[in-house]
Amino acid sequence: MKTRMRFPIHLCQPDSEKSCAACCGIYNFRDNGRRAVRQRLLRNSVFLDPRSCATAQRLASHSQRWRPRDNGDAKRFQTIFNCEFVGFVDVEQRRVGCLLHPALHDGRDLRQCSFYGKDLCDGHFCPSYLSLTEDEQAFVVETLDDWYLYGLVITDIDLVKGIYQHLSDRLGRAVARAWLRPPTVRSRVQTFWQWKATWPYRRKGSDWFGKYLFVGDRYEELPIPYELWGRSPSPYHRILCALGSDFRSLEELDAAERLIETAMDQAERAFDGLF
Ligand code: SF4
Ligand code: SF4
Repeated sequence: MKTRMRFPIHLCQPDSEKSCAACCGIYNFRDNGRRAVRQRLLRNSVFLDPRSCATAQRLASHSQRWRPRDNGDAKRFQTIFNCEFVGFVDVEQRRVGCLLHPALHDGRDLRQCSFYGKDLCDGHFCPSYLSLTEDEQAFVVETLDDWYLYGLVITDIDLVKGIYQHLSDRLGRAVARAWLRPPTVRSRVQTFWQWKATWPYRRKGSDWFGKYLFVGDRYEELPIPYELWGRSPSPYHRILCALGSDFRSLEELDAAERLIETAMDQAERAFDGLF
């Protein structure tokens, strides 16, 4: 959770239905499925419940116990730190964020106990704030009310831009925030976001995230071997990469393109009903 708000949409904590804590490392684990991520967040939230007394000793004991484990073999990409002070910040467990934030401790800022320290945590705004347009940001904020998917999607600039661009091209005008509220539209757009967890052609294993393959402490983009298959790059290349696609054959690539095409057709029809 960031204290200051300098942007039109506060992507970290946009509303009461969801929030993001991706830069605190919640997905940077070999097992970053919903269940495992939730269990780690709950582990921290229960121990650091603001109603219990968050003494320096208690925070230090939590760090000693979990910081090495969360940043050891369980980690996905070594270069990114996984913070042990991230959890659910509301009783409904809809919003994730910083358990040391002053909003949870009657104004007391406890973030000096963290690995990054108060100033870095408070002042960090990820590239999505600057690289996504306000309309692209609203495209995600208005169509997702699920903390797990929200954090995965709002930080995936290629996926958001790729879907937004294709839909806007089909509609012949830029998708506007006001069109995103009808349930049918939200549901069709959510199909794309759900692929962050269910995309059938995504790479197996835990040496990747989004479009990146991790090689030690380096990363490179996952390749799609168009040349090998005598194909020109897919019109959906950006989307395919963002979903971590790892095709074993040209037939799989063709099937993936058909899947996107169908979802685009359905979304386009849902929008068409509005005009
Ligand atoms: S990844 Fe970006 S949107 Fe998410 S919590 Fe960090 S700064 Fe906020
Ligand atoms: S201390 Fe910093 S890195 Fe840790 S949860 Fe809070 S904001 Fe995130």
